[in-house]
Amino acid sequence: MKIVIATTNEGKLREFRQILSPLGFEAVSLRDVGVSADIAEDGDSFEENARIKAQTVYDLVKTPVIADDSGLCVDFLDGAPGIYSARYGGEELDDTGRVEKLLQELENVPEPLRGAEYVCAIYAVMDEKTEFVVTAKMSGIIGTEPVGDGGFGYDPIFILGEEYGSLGGKSVAQISAEEKHKISHRGKAAVLLAEKLKELGYVKS
Ligand code: IMP
Repeated sequence: MKIVIATTNEGKLREFRQILSPLGFEAVSLRDVGVSADIAEDGDSFEENARIKAQTVYDLVKTPVIADDSGLCVDFLDGAPGIYSARYGGEELDDTGRVEKLLQELENVPEPLRGAEYVCAIYAVMDEKTEFVVTAKMSGIIGTEPVGDGGFGYDPIFILGEEYGSLGGKSVAQISAEEKHKISHRGKAAVLLAEKLKELGYVKS
């Protein structure tokens, strides 16, 4: 079965392909189905933004679609940057600038108050009657300076807790892509997506 991944991000597309092809799905991109719509993400939650993207594309292509939305929620900032993670501090900032801004916001904040979580929601619209959302999280604390050069975004300041065993105390930019995928918000949401697709009978076992 063909499934459209509502993203223009090649990295996300590759990850979804790796997860969905063993289940018998052919994951195709927006480009593959000729969709170039610029979709406004104007919802007020990760789930709502993912739903808007998936539903908008489903209405155009009428084949199964999945879309995801993710971000970083910092306890001390009441959940900010949250759904605005990609644009935190304004369009002119890059990943490094956003990391610096976050570190400034948390200047002198003690470690016990620096808790944070990455969140990922994946929304699937399978047909006119079947749609669902799965959400997963990864928790940690925001460090005081960037460490490591793997990953992307806020990874150099996202420090894993002791519950992650040997990875505890490392920044997400210091672990391998495989290690990240096993514990990350996106990796765990993808597992939930696969389970749900099986449960609904979209996967032949
Ligand atoms: P989106 O899901 O493509 O809208 O991305 C949301 C934003 O959240 C990204 O641009 C990053 O700033 C941040 N983000 C989401 N997941 C991660 C992650 O795994 N590592 C680092 N930053 C992330």
